Amino acid sequence: VTGIRYLAEVVLPCDAAGTILRGGAVDVDADGRITFVGPAREAPDLPRGTVQRLPGLLMPGLVNTHCHSPMSVLRGQGEGLPLLRWLTEVIWPREARITDDDVFWGMTLASAEMLRYGVTTSCEMYFRNEALAAAVDASGARCLLTPAIVQAPWPWLGSLEEQLDRVLDFHDTHHDPTGRIRVGLAAHSAYTVPEPYLRQVTAAAKQRGALLAIHLAETEHEGEQVSARHGGASVPQVLADLGVFEASVLAAHAVWLSDADVRTLARHGVAVAHCPGSNAKLASGIAPVADLLAAGVTVGLGTDGPASNNDLDLWEEMRLAALLARLRARDPTALGAGQVLAMATRVGAQALGMPDVGVLEAGRWADLVHISLDDPAFVPVLAEPDLVAHLVFAAPRSCVRDVWVAGRQVVAGGECLTVDLAVARARVQQAAARLAEPA
Ligand SMILES: [Zn+2]
Repeated sequence: VTGIRYLAEVVLPCDAAGTILRGGAVDVDADGRITFVGPAREAPDLPRGTVQRLPGLLMPGLVNTHCHSPMSVLRGQGEGLPLLRWLTEVIWPREARITDDDVFWGMTLASAEMLRYGVTTSCEMYFRNEALAAAVDASGARCLLTPAIVQAPWPWLGSLEEQLDRVLDFHDTHHDPTGRIRVGLAAHSAYTVPEPYLRQVTAAAKQRGALLAIHLAETEHEGEQVSARHGGASVPQVLADLGVFEASVLAAHAVWLSDADVRTLARHGVAVAHCPGSNAKLASGIAPVADLLAAGVTVGLGTDGPASNNDLDLWEEMRLAALLARLRARDPTALGAGQVLAMATRVGAQALGMPDVGVLEAGRWADLVHISLDDPAFVPVLAEPDLVAHLVFAAPRSCVRDVWVAGRQVVAGGECLTVDLAVARARVQQAAARLAEPA
C-alpha cells in the first residue's frame, strides 16, 4: 500500500492562520499520517498513489475534550429532575450496578455516534476502563482515557488506595503516547477526592507526564466545604496551593470563577474543557470563556456525558459556546466563528496535550472529516470566511459524510463502518432497562 491523495473542493486545515484552500489536496501515507496539505496544483508527484475526489469540504476531526461517553446507557433518564435528586435517585443507583459489559456497549454506541458527527477524538473520564478501551479499539476512534479516582459508596469501586493503584496500573499498561488509545489520570473533583489523594494523583501525573483531568467550579456552591476548610480560599486557589496545578491539568466546566481564579488558571497553564450544553441543561451557569481566552487559557469544547446533554454533538457545543459567550458579554463580537472552530479542533487537541491531531498538517495523523456542501446551510458563500460561519452557526451534523481516523475510513456516506449499530442499540436498550430495575 502506498499513500492516498484526497482532492477536495475546499480544504480547511483549521491551522492558526485560518487557511482556507480552494481546490486543495491532502496526502496520507500508508501509516495514516498526513504528508502534504496545500493547493492541488502544488502537490508533489505521488508514486503509484490513488487519488480520491471529494465533492465538498475536508477538515480535521473534532476533539471532544470532556466526556463520560459510556453514560449513553443512562441517556435521558431522570429528565427534568433537580440536580441532586437526578444524581441520588437516578444516576448513582444505576452506576452502582453498572458492569463492564454495560460500559463496553455504552461506549460502542457513543463511539458510533461521535464518529458519525465527525468527532474523532474524545477525552473520557469514567470507570471500568478496560471495557471502555476495548470499545474504542473496536470502533477505530481516538481516545484519551483519564481513569478517575473518586470517593463514592459503590461496592465495586474499592478504597481510594485501591482505586489509585488500579488507575496507575491501567495508565502504565495501556498508555501509547502516539497511538489511538492514550491514557491520562483523573481526580473526579476537589469535593469528592480528599487532599492526600489529590496530592498523590498529582505526583503520579507529574512523574508520568500524564494529563490530569478534574471537574472544577461546575456549580455555584460545590466548593463551599473545600473553601471553608481553607480559610475561604476559592477551589482553584486551594488546588494551586496544594500543588495540583504543577501537573498538566485539564479542568472541566470552570463556570464559577472570579477574575482572580481566571488569572490563577492562566498563570499555571491549566487548560479548560468548556461544556456549554451540559452547563445549560443542568442550569449550572455560563462559563467566562471570553475572559479565559483573553487571559491566555487554552479552552477546548466538551459535551460532558450523554446523560446530561443529551447527545455527543460537538457542532451543537460550538454554536452554544458562541451564543452563550455573546449573551454573557452582551457583545456579538465576544466569540467569533473562527475561534469556536479552533476550540473544537486545534485548541482542543492542545488542551489534551495531543499536538499530533486537530490540524490538517504534514506530520499529524490523518483524522479527517468530509463535509457535504450541498446542504442549504452552506448558501451563500460570497467570501471564504462565510464557510466558517456556516459551519459553526448553520450546518447540521448530517452534513458529515465520511470520516477517517489515522487514515482508516470509519464513516462512509454518513454510516459508521466499524460498529453494528443495530446490535449496539439493542445492547444499550437492554442494559438501560436492567439498570432501571428497582434494587
Ligand atoms: Zn463531567
